Amino acid sequence: GPTVVIIGAGIVGCALADELTGRGWTDVTVLDQGPLFETGGSSSHAPGLVFQTEPSRTMSRLARYTVEKYAGLGCFAPVGSLEVATTPARLAELHRRFGFGQSWGVPSSVLDPAACATLFPLLDKSIIVGGLHVPSDGLVPPVRAAEVQAARATSLGARFLGNRAVTRVTSRSGRVTGVATADEEFPADLVVSCAGLWGPAIGAMAGVPIPLLPMAHQYVRTTAAGASDDLPILRHQDRDLYFRAYGDRFGVGSHRHEPMPVDLADLPGDAHPSKLPFTPDTFRQSWAAAGELIPALRGATLEDAFNGVLSVTADGFPLLGEAASLRGFWVAEAVRVTHSAGAAKAVAEWMADGRPAIDLHECDLNRFDAAQLAPDYVRRRAIRTFAETDGIRHPADPPPVRNVRVSPFHPRQAELGAVFGEAAGWERPLWYATNPPPEAPRPRDEWSARHWSPIAETEARLTRRRVALYDMTPLTRINVTGPPSFLSGLTAADVDRPVGTVVYTCLLDPAGGIRGDVTVARLGEDRFRVGGNGPLDVDWLRRHAPPGVSVRDVTGGTCGVGLWGPAARELVAPLTDVDVSAEGFRYYRAREGYLGTVPVLLLRLSGVGELGWEIYTEAQYGLRLWDTLWEAGREHGLIAAGRLAFDSLRLEKGYRTWGRDMTTEDGPDQAGLRPAGDRVPDRRLTCLLLADTGDVPLGREPVYAGGFPVGHVTGAAYGWSVGAPIAYAWLPSALAVPGTQVEIGYFGRLLLATVAAEPLFDPQNERLRR
Ligand code: FAD
Repeated sequence: GPTVVIIGAGIVGCALADELTGRGWTDVTVLDQGPLFETGGSSSHAPGLVFQTEPSRTMSRLARYTVEKYAGLGCFAPVGSLEVATTPARLAELHRRFGFGQSWGVPSSVLDPAACATLFPLLDKSIIVGGLHVPSDGLVPPVRAAEVQAARATSLGARFLGNRAVTRVTSRSGRVTGVATADEEFPADLVVSCAGLWGPAIGAMAGVPIPLLPMAHQYVRTTAAGASDDLPILRHQDRDLYFRAYGDRFGVGSHRHEPMPVDLADLPGDAHPSKLPFTPDTFRQSWAAAGELIPALRGATLEDAFNGVLSVTADGFPLLGEAASLRGFWVAEAVRVTHSAGAAKAVAEWMADGRPAIDLHECDLNRFDAAQLAPDYVRRRAIRTFAETDGIRHPADPPPVRNVRVSPFHPRQAELGAVFGEAAGWERPLWYATNPPPEAPRPRDEWSARHWSPIAETEARLTRRRVALYDMTPLTRINVTGPPSFLSGLTAADVDRPVGTVVYTCLLDPAGGIRGDVTVARLGEDRFRVGGNGPLDVDWLRRHAPPGVSVRDVTGGTCGVGLWGPAARELVAPLTDVDVSAEGFRYYRAREGYLGTVPVLLLRLSGVGELGWEIYTEAQYGLRLWDTLWEAGREHGLIAAGRLAFDSLRLEKGYRTWGRDMTTEDGPDQAGLRPAGDRVPDRRLTCLLLADTGDVPLGREPVYAGGFPVGHVTGAAYGWSVGAPIAYAWLPSALAVPGTQVEIGYFGRLLLATVAAEPLFDPQNERLRR
């Protein structure tokens, strides 16, 4: 194997050395600035609570592997976990979390207060309304886990060197060549930074931005309070508290305090650089709340208390992968003890096999746009992420930093009363308040009615009946120059089609997993416009571009709309020199021309299943494009419509969204993107029609058949054209047969659903092709 240097002998660096040597890569050197293995990093101070239930399937799996591996190494105490609720909202949240556990394979149960007190007799059960019990959760002793993994790696050839502070990362022609300390050089083919909260400092040595914020977090150990080592780990998230036992004492952590971002330069220069002085004032309330839940704590005092430093990212996910700007420089940072072994395994696979076995797009180091790397953005969002560690978060809750990226249409959208949501820094209209609500809106459950409006129904119906304008600017646009073989080699399609043709296909990874879904428009012999999902598509194309092929992200300099509905042709025809007749401009075709004075690229595609075009231009012409269409649209009843309507129409047509409906773990056959070949896939992305009860899942909910969890929902919306909620779900192929009855777990209720033939709306695509 190659020569690998790992920076950092915390739990992540040690786990990675173990995973790499276990794969036969034995030339591994791990360097740490501190002494081994109590290095003074976060792992030296973490109490090591592991909760495996998370909204993200990936994160839950990283945690599950950590539990399995450390249990096998004798570094895991399987005491189970209990999360208590003191409010009805929290109890509902625990039911939702129970659902995540069912979806991802982490069994749990929701308990009443008496059952909670049986598990954890020191609780004052009069203040709780229920709890979530996860029997397989527990405790990892982080330093021991680091040591045990290091010992195994050492036995296979790795070396661990303490008291070696890396001061330089060396490189040549965009490739890493090694690292250096003050007086030693360590040449390497691959360097992995597992420097935890020091990640940004190592990144700076390599010229690679590492968007994490070191933050202080309060942790105390109490005097004797009647605890015992068999107590489950405990979370009291209504008060941002967690607990574990140390014999008859407790450890108590709190996230409820003023955010305390830490400047690396201010860390103490002693043996405990990630341990800051305790701030008792900010802990007072938390201590009182701890005593309310566990009255025995009222007689105890604090024996040891400190503010420990850990790493927080803007979105709460780790940073994993190879830097885009420096080949051979890898990162595994902002990883909790909980995910340490899982993340190390995934990165080791990625390094050794070219791809991780599980989908890591949420954790990919290269997932950010330039603005999302801005220190101000990282800081403000990470502070919010930390403050909401224990919050009840709705997937559509708005982030703290807004208006980072706006399309040129933004002022017009605001005039129309757009209510914006945010995605990857973009402001996206969800609906427009100036569109009228329906006369008799359907009832909708409280959770799915958040960040939602009945106006979406009007917008969806008017798109099908007349014509609507959707902002497509947040899609990623990439100009590729080079022979068609380049894109054909990376996708599931042959893009060597006549100039003017558009192909919808997916980017495939080396194992045939779906890296992204894209439209590829051939605009010239060697000129392509790729429509994709985000920075990861750009990164993927760039990584694979041979000399002579150019890959340019033109998203920021361009903008576009989707103009869709039966009246779309009548609307654009008088405005353009392009022949937009049914014969002159067929589906899946591209033309360049003018719309009024605006130079445009017209793609005859539809995200909603109606006649129309995606219309792109340079950002400078954006307002003019909007105004031209808006003016001409008056007589056709044109409306502006938002994401909520879009998602409903999209699901009615069965159009997939990458990252939600499908990932690298899925192939095009399973995802239903092409007819299955001879081999019947084991599972399929499946369309479900729900009983119309007013409940509309949002995604990630478990699907049950015969009382057993069999799959999970990827996305759902009310379908107004079909008169019922629609969900897409991964199901075993044997169940993915129209007519099969299943149930969706939603806040402790079971929603009846039936597998339906798809697409639900206009299966012959007559409306598209007219
Ligand atoms: P670290 O352990 O910090 O290791 C990074 C290493 O890099 C350090 O040893 C450092 O010395 C070394 N290094 C840095 N710069 C250099 C350099 N220039 N040259 C050489 N070496 C360098 N997580 C959980 O999952 N559950 C919990 O209950 C939990 N509780 C926590 C409570 C507290 C109070 C704190 C502080 C953290 C807690 N965490 C918890 C988070 C957890 O501790 C960290 O996420 C985890 O330990 C990170 O491991 P790491 O190996 O990435 O980082």
